Amino acid sequence: MLDQTKASTQIRNVLSELDQALTNNNIDDALKLFADECYWRDLLSFTWNIKTLESKEEIRLMIAERLVVVRPTGWATDQEGLAKRTDNITEGFIRFDTAVGYGTGYIRLKNGLIWTLLTTMQDLKGHEFSRPIGANHGEHQDEISWAEKREVELSELGVTKQPYVLIIGAGQNGLSLGARLRQLNVPTLIVEKDERPGDSWRKRYKTLCLHNPVWENHFPYLDFPENWPVFTPKDKYADWLEAYSKLMELNIWGGAEAKHASYNHDSQKWTVVIERNGEEITLQPNHLVFATGLSGSRPNMPNIPGQDEFDGIQQHSAEHPGPEGMEGKNVVVIGSSTSAHDICAALAKNGVDVTMVQRSPSYIVKSESFMKHVLRPLYSEEAVASGITAEKADLLNASIPFAKFADFMKPGVDAIREADAGFYQALEDAGFLLDFGPGGTGLFGKYLTGTNNYYIDIGTSQMIIDGKIKLASGSGVEKLDKNSVILEDDRQIPADVVIYATGFNSMEGWAAELISQDVADKIGTVWGFGSGTQKDPGPWEGELRNMWKPTKQEGLWFQGSLIAHARFYSHFVALQLKARMEGVPTPIYGLDD
Ligand SMILES: Cc1cc2nc3c(=O)[nH]c(=O)nc-3n(C[C@H](O)[C@H](O)[C@H](O)COP(=O)(O)OP(=O)(O)OC[C@H]3O[C@@H](n4cnc5c(N)ncnc54)[C@H](O)[C@@H]3O)c2cc1C
Repeated sequence: MLDQTKASTQIRNVLSELDQALTNNNIDDALKLFADECYWRDLLSFTWNIKTLESKEEIRLMIAERLVVVRPTGWATDQEGLAKRTDNITEGFIRFDTAVGYGTGYIRLKNGLIWTLLTTMQDLKGHEFSRPIGANHGEHQDEISWAEKREVELSELGVTKQPYVLIIGAGQNGLSLGARLRQLNVPTLIVEKDERPGDSWRKRYKTLCLHNPVWENHFPYLDFPENWPVFTPKDKYADWLEAYSKLMELNIWGGAEAKHASYNHDSQKWTVVIERNGEEITLQPNHLVFATGLSGSRPNMPNIPGQDEFDGIQQHSAEHPGPEGMEGKNVVVIGSSTSAHDICAALAKNGVDVTMVQRSPSYIVKSESFMKHVLRPLYSEEAVASGITAEKADLLNASIPFAKFADFMKPGVDAIREADAGFYQALEDAGFLLDFGPGGTGLFGKYLTGTNNYYIDIGTSQMIIDGKIKLASGSGVEKLDKNSVILEDDRQIPADVVIYATGFNSMEGWAAELISQDVADKIGTVWGFGSGTQKDPGPWEGELRNMWKPTKQEGLWFQGSLIAHARFYSHFVALQLKARMEGVPTPIYGLDD
């Protein structure tokens, strides 16, 4: 308690000095409050961008350009009960105002000076969050009902009225963003090529359950109920998505596939061709959002010599329905990430002879260890009990600059490595190739740098250790012949079925496919922050490229990633779109960096 009070007081004092310096336009005084090593991550409030400034000099340049317009005031501590001090670090939540919005954030002081600062816009002035009234009472009672209004809205949008925003894809990202935009009264239509939201999960192999626990997975405006399972089975999750879309009153066209899009710079509108029930419909939204799936929608099918000659069945993991009908067959699963593990486990449990082919190392973490050492402080029952709701955990997560990501992640990964040393040894003894993510950052490091070969172990690893799932590691596939898979090191594995658990294609691929290669080239890579790893080449960006922020193609946005990211970042995409619709100036800082 004493430490909490001291921490709040220390933060309050620094904020007060920052307030004064910025109000007096005294940049030198403001910079004196920052440590020599310092990071300022801003989500919209200063930059109308998602940007991390990684030195005093970068902060100076940003403030010099933006201060007059942003006019920040009212810097204060927030959630004081959660402020804390450990060794030389003091940290806590903060709030502030700008000329156009209200902000919250998080600050870390190192030896009394600002080490990391997160500033985020939470509300636009004049468009603050409020609960819709729903019904007019008294003499102005509604003449048409809610249901009638919904019917009219659905019949008009995209037909006689153009949406301001068109979202392609009704997965967790399209729906989260749709709900945020609905709350902000931004006319939005979502097109989904499947019939119903959730179908992409319904189509996946039947044993799939979400790997992240329920506390991490709440949706905007709607938490999962108390009795929801910790790990959601995929068909239950599909029903949640569908129910969510109804409860949030989202305007969705099912069975509607976006075929082509082009942008008209004069009208500042898109022309998007949609195929629905065999009919072509042209829509003209001001903004187009790709919520088409970061990983999961565009199967990456490798080209391997001999695929034409192979006598058996070949399928991508996305098409694999489950182990039924595979009894008595030899199945080879190519890949060693989540899908490969889940599929192998289900096959082995059904008595199928299955071999996993692992070309390169994967990161494996036991589910309970991941929860205990990585997720528990942020997304767990204990976290909620200590006041860390999912929203606060999201801010805490966002407060870590990517440049310091390894320092924050590695201790948890190391602790697991030590606690589960026997498990990792047994896996290696079984021939499994392990790695621990770039710079030892484990699962998140792999995910954020686009290397998705990881698995949160819920028992499959023991089946590999026990030999119930055969393993062929250390070599890629050279070719197939009529009835076997032949590896580069000449090993030959008999096969009646080959399942390619080889991942999914990139987001920029969607842009090339639906818009043009020129536009895809203009915007560049989507995802990754330029860590210099194989799938995430430099230059260093310090932010996930093109995600949730303006792209170099006007009116084009990307909304993707895990449920927690969908929840958190949809808020910022929605605010950017709302501001544009309302004509609030949104000068972007650092778009060309
Ligand atoms: C085996 C497996 C397990 C996973 N487990 C988890 C997990 O536990 N937790 C988690 O957060 N993530 C998990 N993921 C990742 C998961 O796929 C994504 O997090 C999630 O699906 C992303 O949601 P999304 O809304 O971005 O994309 P998606 O869910 O892929 O939704 C995109 C939608 O866009 C639609 N679409 C695509 N193109 C068009 C078009 N041209 N016109 C109209 N509609 C179109 C698709 O039909 C689809 O419905 C897993 C993935 C796999 C493969």
